Amino acid sequence: MTPALHGGLRLPGNKQRSTQKPLRLIPAPDQVVLPLDQHAGAPAVATVRVGDRVLRGQLIARAESEISASLHASVAGTVLAIEPRAVPYHRNGPSTCIVIDNDGSDATASVAAVDHAALDPRALCEYIGNGGIVGLGGAAFPTAPKLRRGQQNDGPHLILNGAECEPWISCDDMLMREHAQQILRGAIILCHALQAARCTVVIEDDKPVAESAMRAAQAELHDERIVIQSVPTIYPAGGENQIITVVTGLEVPASGLPSDIGVLCHNVGTAAAVARWLDNGEPLIRRIVTVTGSGVTEPGNLEVWLGTPMSQLVDHSGGYSGSIARLLMGGSMMGLALPSDDLPVVKASNCLVAALPADLHLRGMEMPCIRCGNCSEACPVMLLPQQLHWFARSNDFAALESLGLMDCIECGCCDYVCPSQIPLAQQFRQAKPALVERLTSKQQASLARQRYESRDQRLERIEAERQAKLAEKRKAMTQNNHPGG
Ligand code: SF4
Ligand code: SF4
Repeated sequence: MTPALHGGLRLPGNKQRSTQKPLRLIPAPDQVVLPLDQHAGAPAVATVRVGDRVLRGQLIARAESEISASLHASVAGTVLAIEPRAVPYHRNGPSTCIVIDNDGSDATASVAAVDHAALDPRALCEYIGNGGIVGLGGAAFPTAPKLRRGQQNDGPHLILNGAECEPWISCDDMLMREHAQQILRGAIILCHALQAARCTVVIEDDKPVAESAMRAAQAELHDERIVIQSVPTIYPAGGENQIITVVTGLEVPASGLPSDIGVLCHNVGTAAAVARWLDNGEPLIRRIVTVTGSGVTEPGNLEVWLGTPMSQLVDHSGGYSGSIARLLMGGSMMGLALPSDDLPVVKASNCLVAALPADLHLRGMEMPCIRCGNCSEACPVMLLPQQLHWFARSNDFAALESLGLMDCIECGCCDYVCPSQIPLAQQFRQAKPALVERLTSKQQASLARQRYESRDQRLERIEAERQAKLAEKRKAMTQNNHPGG
């Protein structure tokens, strides 16, 4: 029996409109804008200069920190600028981007296929990092450091996440329908990198076409490590920690990592990207984006070269059907409201929702909390959102820390069920940076105290050793002064 997820919501999926037509690769634009920090961790460091000619797939920025990801040109052409540009992220402000003018030649850097089995797990992990691969479920966490953590486990359980629980998003559904074998090739490569004993591909039960495609590919593979598991459709069961609980019955410890319990979770899109890099020599330079919402004329799933302006995705989907209320990157629950469509597609861009008012769960005027408890019942992390709300309002960070604010996954379930229309998730997202700062300075203070205490202990030890030596010397002198005594 599948272990149940605490809380969560059954939401209208709104995925049918975007899954009627096959995947379509759209032409590369005249110019691409590629941010150096389109992944979690430190920005990549540019390896090209303005005026350089680059080939499609060529390395243009290198990961030089433990948590970072390399970046490759998605078109062939000339580097026009390396400068700050507007980007589709939660934080405000521009990011440094490499802007490439497309020469239309599609000239591609030649990279030979690599046999994963010929590499030891450590070297394979390094090689996956060279492909600029990051988690394609939306978080864009670099894949190589995540694998390195998983390598510390003895035969971990690999979970490939194809749940795709958030409303409107269907890019993983279409990938599983059309590229099931590539996902399973990626699964085999990732199993080798991790020396994983088991791999479970998880699909929510509202994707029967994808599930049968994956089961057919698995039947051809004859690899007993890989199993396909269908799970009930419930939001946010596709969250990393939530899907681990649903599949294994284990809880990732608060403030811990899945590798702490011997599990590693990757998105199905990430597995396919790993296979494309090793088998075809194509680094991460394109991805599937769902373009949907009632505000777009022909919803669907497009394969898009990174750095393409979002406006072109709308153009290739028949344009806007009316005056849209909101443009979101991601789904309707956790998506980011974009100020305009003049922003580039990045590695994290899984979906673009052009929403009319009827598509949105619009909030009315905020009213005082009536302590109904709906939010705690809906919270998949078993937090107490109403209490977090009080303490976030009063900036009581000690209380926020002890109530587990950092475990909040910002899923928005509490908002959705709140009769008082309180923007809880938004409040929690805003409170986190200050809490992180507090935790960091607490950690630094504790390190400083430890250093001070160990210095004291070291001085005491030196003094004790000095006294012991002195005592020995005195004793020897006394013996010398009284021979035969
Ligand atoms: S759902 Fe809203 S009104 Fe009810 S307890 Fe939570 S914050 Fe208060
Ligand atoms: S946004 Fe945070 S507090 Fe609210 S339901 Fe989701 S995890 Fe719980």
